[in-house]
Amino acid sequence: MSADIIKKTAAELAGLISSGEASAVEVAQAHLDRIAAVEDSVKAFTHVDPEATLAQARTVDERRAAGEALGPLAGVPIAHKDVFTTTDMPTTASSKILEGWRPPYDATVTRRLREAGLVILGKTNMDEFAMGSSTENSAFGPTHNPWDLNKIPGGSSGGSSAAVAAYEAPLATGTDTGGSIRQPAAVTGLVGMKPTYGGSSRYGLIAFASSLDTPGPLARTVLDAALLHEAFSGHDPMDSTSIDQPVPPVVEAARRGEVGGLRVGVVKEFGGEGYQPGVLARFHEAVELLESLGAKVVEVSCPHFTYALPAYYLIAPSECSSNLARFDGMRYGLRVGDDQTRSAEEVMALTRAEGFGPEVKRRIMLGTYALSSGYYDAYYGKAQQVRTLIARDFDAAFEQVDVLVSPTTPTTAFPIGERADDPMAMYLADLCTIPSNLAGNAAISVPCGLADEDSLPVGLQIMAPVLADDRVYRVGAAVERALQDRWGGPLLAKAPEL
Ligand code: GLN
Repeated sequence: MSADIIKKTAAELAGLISSGEASAVEVAQAHLDRIAAVEDSVKAFTHVDPEATLAQARTVDERRAAGEALGPLAGVPIAHKDVFTTTDMPTTASSKILEGWRPPYDATVTRRLREAGLVILGKTNMDEFAMGSSTENSAFGPTHNPWDLNKIPGGSSGGSSAAVAAYEAPLATGTDTGGSIRQPAAVTGLVGMKPTYGGSSRYGLIAFASSLDTPGPLARTVLDAALLHEAFSGHDPMDSTSIDQPVPPVVEAARRGEVGGLRVGVVKEFGGEGYQPGVLARFHEAVELLESLGAKVVEVSCPHFTYALPAYYLIAPSECSSNLARFDGMRYGLRVGDDQTRSAEEVMALTRAEGFGPEVKRRIMLGTYALSSGYYDAYYGKAQQVRTLIARDFDAAFEQVDVLVSPTTPTTAFPIGERADDPMAMYLADLCTIPSNLAGNAAISVPCGLADEDSLPVGLQIMAPVLADDRVYRVGAAVERALQDRWGGPLLAKAPEL
């Protein structure tokens, strides 16, 4: 039973629980058993508390027994990225500077998971403050890709992707500032969605780059991602950039899944040199598939997308240098050198020197430089202008086509350690995902096969205009259904047993 349960989708589990065929406690226990069995090799979680998880599950079973109307995911377990505040669990953003911190409030996303009756299994590992593409920048050590334990699971939401790909959880939360949901989903064979910016709340999300940070779902199927998207998204008065409009009908779109007559644009700038041949081969097959399903495919040029990466690496560090100023050794977590002889400034400097890892320090320095007087217009100001040009490229493209497609990442999962000392190589992992963060539009990654060279998963990225989140689910579901017919089941079934 237990082995059966962990392979089920969130939608199937919700069905079993609501029909009484399984209890939330049984389902939680099956996943806790799986965590106990594989966590030593995967290392997806930074915090698991089986007793607390079972208590949450028991509450859901009691509420159901009492006849309470519960949401569509009630009783389904979830792995929660450790960047969202949780009153009953530590919240660290995988940084030493926050080790042991217990937040006084729940993030809106956390609160909505609880209200929907989702059972939180624990907090997942990530790149420190969500800066990275491999989860190697965690103060607690790397997470391993369940497809090949020597490879990275993507990042920054790599604990979340690994947990779902290893069947430790059917669902996980992530955050995407430059690709941190879509890239880990792509390299672990999952579905990962970055909603429209402002479509999901940032309240209680430890800030990296506030104009880009977007919470979103990771799951094994498009429908599961949509169900989770719907459960935690929507307007939040606690977040001043939250969009005061209904959540687009993502679940309905995921159930429908069709592309007949849809105009699909292939982004000309994404492909060619620097892309792994096996990634391009699977991508081109996916494009042919869309055509065979009735979509009209054209090539579209978005000339400024080439400048997205450099613009992002000015804007994101600038915002991070400001956001991370609050970690001063006075308010949260770690404090170093407070021996009654040192000044407050000295304690702050010692705390930050010891509390932040090298990548975080690099970003703070880059951002402080880009924002300093005399450089502001040349760097930050220019990057913001480029950002506008990228948004205009999207606008022009969406006058011709309904969605844009590209590979999600230029390569499959790379070996742990390979890019750790080469930040530029690491940054390239987000080449294709960053434009949608800069413009704020919706984008999803769905599995489109395994690369021939290494038999590792490849992701197809589907991008739609702002607030057309349902459209990427509709296309993603059509692709998923057609590919699963071809493969005779989900891609993840091809992963080696752990
Ligand atoms: N890899 C990118 C970075 O390091 C994106 C991270 C993210 O989306 N949080 O900034």
